[in-house]
Amino acid sequence: MRNAVLTRVWRQLPQRHRQIILASSVVMLASAMWPGSTVIGHQRQMLELPTLETSVNLPEFNDESVPQIPPNYQYQIQTGDTLSAVFSEFNVNQQLMYQILEADMDVLALDTLQPGHELKFWLDADGQLERLEIAFNIAEQVIYSRVEEDVFEVERLIHDGQWETETVHGEIHGSLYVSGQRAGLTAAELDQINRLFEDKINFARELRAGDRFEVLRSVQSIDQQKTGNSNIEAVRIFNRSKELNAYLFSDGNYYDSNGDSLARAFMRIPLNQSAPRISSGFNPRRKHPVTGRISPHNGTDFAVPIGTPVLAAGDGVVTRIENHPYAGKYIVIQHGGQYRTRYLHLNSFNVRKGQRVARGDVIAQSGNTGRSTGPHLHYELHINGRPVNAMRANIPMASSLDQAQRSEFAQLVEQRNNVFEQAILAAASGEGATRS
Ligand SMILES: [Zn+2]
Repeated sequence: MRNAVLTRVWRQLPQRHRQIILASSVVMLASAMWPGSTVIGHQRQMLELPTLETSVNLPEFNDESVPQIPPNYQYQIQTGDTLSAVFSEFNVNQQLMYQILEADMDVLALDTLQPGHELKFWLDADGQLERLEIAFNIAEQVIYSRVEEDVFEVERLIHDGQWETETVHGEIHGSLYVSGQRAGLTAAELDQINRLFEDKINFARELRAGDRFEVLRSVQSIDQQKTGNSNIEAVRIFNRSKELNAYLFSDGNYYDSNGDSLARAFMRIPLNQSAPRISSGFNPRRKHPVTGRISPHNGTDFAVPIGTPVLAAGDGVVTRIENHPYAGKYIVIQHGGQYRTRYLHLNSFNVRKGQRVARGDVIAQSGNTGRSTGPHLHYELHINGRPVNAMRANIPMASSLDQAQRSEFAQLVEQRNNVFEQAILAAASGEGATRS
């Protein structure tokens, strides 16, 4: 399918462009010596290879914004590619690249390019870049479109697709990690399970051979094709001495069967101050101060002096440490499957990529880097891949469900447990589509 598309695009390319693609390795070498190829930071920067930010995206999809005409060029990111080299290969000069990066500030998508992601370029009649699309996978694309001579706008397409639930269960022999992967759980799912229960059990020490685990997950597919996105709906672990369980409730948080929250509390404000001055609030319809067009402000700006300690809003893993020409030095933290926070315009970092952090840890000093009108911290909270107002959003507060929610939750627990029981029965009698 994909090959067919590639072949079609390939045939449509004029001879000159075919040569460009064929000569790409040479171009890569040559561009390494291109002095003006600084992209992010002060050095040519390798595209990030190993990290994959896990996020579950559950949203609508705007069909009309997908152009029916095939792109003029299409390129799949290879190991070792740099953004500037790839751009120069497709005649995106530095000025143009900065216009795209300016639009990128709202989504910070270019820093997440990895081998396998596809770039598509559409040109106008004069050969000018009109539209650039990054296809991360079939569920998510980011599109930069020219709206003025020197201004690009960005749009993120998240396809909902179909979500189907399935049960994965098995026995523990060795670690939960190894046993879970053998049963078909992904590394991201196992990491999430680990985080849900880390306050309740030491998996390395307390699990015994023969302990059982059961996971109900929803898995996304688009046109029969799995996207790689999944979401844990419920987990049960039967340890020799206790049962651990977690159920995803309609408020987006996990609770045990007693209705007690399993997420540790988030900080509303990631600073050592309870009421810092907010110089600019979250506003999806903000008028851009420079261009005058409507462009979202996806975060909350706190007017704090350079060097103010910035704290991790919750427990999580540092998935990105980057320097973006417009967002400045920034950090992204992933908190479990659903929550992600971003901290922009920093002065310096206290953490490194891949590091686990706890709520309240000092992760950076605030600053005024990138395009910034004065010292401040720009803070974003994303739930299921979408920016929300961090000052108002429903964040995990490490509490219990209130009385009004109890009966809805009890029904959910019963329904989930029934699914588990049926899956176990089906597996025992050798039928059913469950995995074990
Ligand atoms: Zn801001």
